[in-house]
Amino acid sequence: MGIHILVIEDEDEIADFLVRGLREEGFTVERASNGDDGWFRLKTGEWDVVLLDWWLPGIDGLTLLKRFRQVDRTTPVLFLTARDAVSDRVQGLDHGADDYLCKPFAFNELLARIRVMSRRRDQILATELNSLDISIDLTTQRVERNGHQLDLTGKEYSLLVFLMRHAGDVLTRTRIYEHVWDERYDGISNSLEVHIMELRKKLEGHGPRIIHTLRNRGYVFANRPG
Ligand code: CA
Repeated sequence: MGIHILVIEDEDEIADFLVRGLREEGFTVERASNGDDGWFRLKTGEWDVVLLDWWLPGIDGLTLLKRFRQVDRTTPVLFLTARDAVSDRVQGLDHGADDYLCKPFAFNELLARIRVMSRRRDQILATELNSLDISIDLTTQRVERNGHQLDLTGKEYSLLVFLMRHAGDVLTRTRIYEHVWDERYDGISNSLEVHIMELRKKLEGHGPRIIHTLRNRGYVFANRPG
């Protein structure tokens, strides 16, 4: 589960920085260090987001992008380019890149772009979400547990969708706040706890506990905690 990211980047220093940083954020990350390896992984793997460097040994970034778009039109590709290479950016977007980022970039900026892209992809691809005994129709926002329809508020709904998309993962309060509330967790507010409580009440009317609290760590959506 979780978001799988492929980093195609030949410069070790940048690649290490990206891979380490993204893993710390809970993403599953693989790296390709040249165009040929990149093409192999694009063909054989399942990716939620691809970070593609422009200048690569072997097959260059633009060629890679063109080839990839012939076989895959939906996987988001963010390409990494030099600061002033305006024509590269235009070409990249013309050939199916979803976004670009100029080097050097701030890690937070990259994270923000990845979140937007993966959210967009989720919205495009999935119309139904099923996990354990809960199902959500993402087009009508109808939520059912064991066949019983649940009446959720907007926040409870977003919270449940996020937890289900990361079923089995331990989610810190910070991560949940950033994704569901789109803001930083101030460390004080208890609105998350309140929403979890309300959501549990509704869910547990039709089955056992499914959102577990892990002390000092966060929450997990699963049959059993841990
Ligand atoms: Ca490069």
